[in-house]
Amino acid sequence: MRIVSLFILFLLSAGNARPSDLFFSPGRIVWLTLFVYLAASLAYRWTRAPARTAAMKWEGAALSLLSVNAVVQQTGGVHSYFLYLYPVVLLIASFQFSFFRSMILVSGIFFLEGVSLSAAPPADPLSQWMVFFPLALIVIPLTVKWGLRAFYREREMLMKKLKNKKMEAAVPLPDMKQRPELARLSKEEEKDEAQMLAKRMEAHLEHLLGLILASRMQAHRAVFLSYDREGELLWVRAARGRQSPLGIDLQRTIPLGEGILGWIAKERRAVAVADLPDQKEPLDYDDGSVVPHSLLAVPVLDQDLFEGLLCVDSLADHAFSIQDEEVLQGVAREIVTVLTYYREQQRMSQRTRVYSALLEISKSLGSRLDLDHRLEITADSAKEIIDYDRCFIFLVEPGERRLTVKAVKGYDPAVVDYNFALTNGLLSIIVKNRQVLLFSQLPSQRAKHKIFPDGCKISVDCRSFLGLPLIIEDRAMGVVLFLSEKENAFTTYDRHVLSILCNHVAISIAEAQAHAQVERLAITDGLTGVYNHRRFQERLQEEFVRNARHPEPFSILMIDIDFFKKINDTFGHPAGDAVLKVIAKLLAKMVRKLDVVARYGGEEFVVLLLKTDSMQAWQMAERIRKTIESAPIDWQGQKIEITVSIGVASQPADAAQREELIACADKALYSSKRAGRNRSTLFKDLTQDMYEVG
Ligand code: GH3
Ligand code: MG
Ligand code: MG
Repeated sequence: MRIVSLFILFLLSAGNARPSDLFFSPGRIVWLTLFVYLAASLAYRWTRAPARTAAMKWEGAALSLLSVNAVVQQTGGVHSYFLYLYPVVLLIASFQFSFFRSMILVSGIFFLEGVSLSAAPPADPLSQWMVFFPLALIVIPLTVKWGLRAFYREREMLMKKLKNKKMEAAVPLPDMKQRPELARLSKEEEKDEAQMLAKRMEAHLEHLLGLILASRMQAHRAVFLSYDREGELLWVRAARGRQSPLGIDLQRTIPLGEGILGWIAKERRAVAVADLPDQKEPLDYDDGSVVPHSLLAVPVLDQDLFEGLLCVDSLADHAFSIQDEEVLQGVAREIVTVLTYYREQQRMSQRTRVYSALLEISKSLGSRLDLDHRLEITADSAKEIIDYDRCFIFLVEPGERRLTVKAVKGYDPAVVDYNFALTNGLLSIIVKNRQVLLFSQLPSQRAKHKIFPDGCKISVDCRSFLGLPLIIEDRAMGVVLFLSEKENAFTTYDRHVLSILCNHVAISIAEAQAHAQVERLAITDGLTGVYNHRRFQERLQEEFVRNARHPEPFSILMIDIDFFKKINDTFGHPAGDAVLKVIAKLLAKMVRKLDVVARYGGEEFVVLLLKTDSMQAWQMAERIRKTIESAPIDWQGQKIEITVSIGVASQPADAAQREELIACADKALYSSKRAGRNRSTLFKDLTQDMYEVG
């Protein structure tokens, strides 16, 4: 618009500066004002701008024509030889402007001279033509067209400003504190949130680019190229333009150092290119449909960290000035703020997910006391925290340098309970040094052979390795191992979070183990290690219940050591204890795994023989009796000869109930004692008087 008003002023002033006029005639004053203004403006721009801008070209052209006009007026008007200066100036101007704009200048000059000639007496018929010919043919339609274009452009800018205002209201930086902090967030939800955040960030960036277009800058498009550190390349993250489509290839990636933009990115300094070579080499992000002539690019730097490139381009040559560069630098700083903000948001949502997963795991760990369940939960829920392909949980065998597989994910579950010696390999380092090991780029050979010790049947190939010891009281009680086939699958952040998790898991495992120990103690006899009386009663009851559904004979042997009091008296109480232990061990060894051996009382044992009828039970009783009889116990160099008396009762032959069966066995035992000890008696062989007497 400034150019238009200048041109009108120029027209008004023309023709008024004649020799016949007073020195300070109104026309001359306007002319002088205009001249001084143009000269000052041009000089100012010349000293400040790095390159010629379009405004400078117009002002230069107008100044030159004004000067020529003055000289022509002073030297005889249309008859002056200086008239030939016009075509020279126009010729120079036509190199600077397009044909269309040169034509406007030509018409303007014709009009100007025509007006001045027709105003001066005597009127020259040539001057009439000079006024009306350009006026009718060129100036009027062109001015109308030009005016309309200017009007539409102004209107568009106004609409854009309004729209930007609306956008500003629509995309405010959300308040970080308002986010629901500890809401449960799954991996999927986090992905959705990350996508939503990325979209919001791009909208924000576009909003900033929109502000550039709405400014006074002659930008045709504004583009932010994000720098990908890993790939060392730039890619279009956000773009805005005056026209749609933008003519930008969004898929294009620009390697650092290649093309104009790649070069600027590598140099990391602001660069203005005033006239890009036409067509030959479009900008790296162009799809070819738009041919920009000027480019201004500034690096987006977060302190020393290069984040990308902020560019504006223009269809005009020499479109950008120093002020434009300052504006762009300001926007670049804003972009850094936006990037930092969204990065922080992303990190927060990741942490929310991780901490909520931790919370969830610790809740589940507490839900049940059994060890296998806890290990299963650990392996399962760790998936919420890190992206592993395989997970193993090992426990260290107490007192030995051996590991047992207790839980596994992503590998053959048959290895559970498999154990191996810790001779070498990464696992043994973890146990020995109680140290977390994280490897992001394991070479395949090393991974195959060195994770597990030599001789271990587990073999996996992996690139990323994260092994954490489970430590209780400065002792590694186990190892949690995560493996991935991808490189750099685990981060130091994962390592940090999983260390917290493993502390928790270690405590939880110790708790489960202590609980299992208490349970074991509650059902075993402290001296001999076999089941205690209570557990025997429970087992016997279970058998009766089971038998009601699947009838099968089973028997019990009631075993009492003969003259045990004498052993105590002769060899001492500790000797008696040793004898009890040896007998218990022997009994446990002689029966099958499914049978139950328990200490019934003082020097009395009971054996539950499953799927065994009375005859088979009697044979077993005799085998036991003879074995004990034939193997005296060694006590501090002395031989202690021992015999036992046994009573045998069977189900369903002798009793239909637990208490009854025990009573029957007791009676048979009593009968053995009465008959002289060191013998086995079947309850069913007893006659009424044999056990009622006494
Ligand atoms: P019998 O042949 O009639 O069974 O004679 P006995 O001496 O074995 O039987 P009695 O019931 O008279 O004695 C059992 C003894 O076993 C009494 C008790 O001091 C002893 N005793 C019970 N429990 C233990 C124990 O845990 N350790 C030791 N050393 N002795 C025990
Ligand atoms: Mg006894
Ligand atoms: Mg006894």
